[in-house]
Amino acid sequence: MSAWVDSHCHLHMADAAPTLLLERAAAAGVAWLVCPGTDAPSSEEALALAEAHPDRVLPAVGLHPHDASRWPEEGARIAELAVGAVGIGECGLDFYRNLSPRDDQVAAFRAQVALAEDLDLPLIVHVRDAFREMYDELESSGAGPRTVLHCWTGGPKWTKRFDALGVTFSFAGPITYPKGDTVRLAAAVAPPERTMVETDTPYLTPPPDRHLPNEPANVVEVGRALAEVWGVPEGDVARSTSEVAARVFRRG
Ligand SMILES: [Zn+2]
Repeated sequence: MSAWVDSHCHLHMADAAPTLLLERAAAAGVAWLVCPGTDAPSSEEALALAEAHPDRVLPAVGLHPHDASRWPEEGARIAELAVGAVGIGECGLDFYRNLSPRDDQVAAFRAQVALAEDLDLPLIVHVRDAFREMYDELESSGAGPRTVLHCWTGGPKWTKRFDALGVTFSFAGPITYPKGDTVRLAAAVAPPERTMVETDTPYLTPPPDRHLPNEPANVVEVGRALAEVWGVPEGDVARSTSEVAARVFRRG
């Protein structure tokens, strides 16, 4: 059985007990996972889960663009928590839902880019309907392989542009969807040496269970879809995506 890494999984947001989900993940071949917070309280939950499961769960801390307006109140706490984390995020820009004003999103994102730089940690980036703005942000701040575009859904054109910045892509459930052609075209041009897989649990469950909450065991389905796009054996994708995750999150 191949060993997988779920590079982005909100284990603390799942209804089911984390221990149960971790057991099912282990049975499916998922060696470890990264659990990102989306605000200060959920970042604390991610750290607590990592403490309870040090071999399986790696924590990241950050403020999601939806909640970016809370950076003035929560930023200092997130910076404190970051000392015990393996990454900063998820953070980013979401101009689709605009749940925080765009200016607030940009300010919170830049603060988290600076935090990741200060602590020499990877940056876990959410981007929706803001590819151009995100490209400009990352180009000017200096992105690299430890800049992770999580749940990547940009088409092939944006994939090539971001690829030129040297970032790492992480594919999620949409690559398995019948309507996921754009994502599959993106995956076809994504560089295997900078590509990971994730579930974004509890969201984006692969078919046929789309009505159920997602869980880390399903990262295997994402990896299988990626293997089909690349035309390589599943085991090769498990190996390469796990190696990339180990490099990005500095897990030996
Ligand atoms: Zn997420």
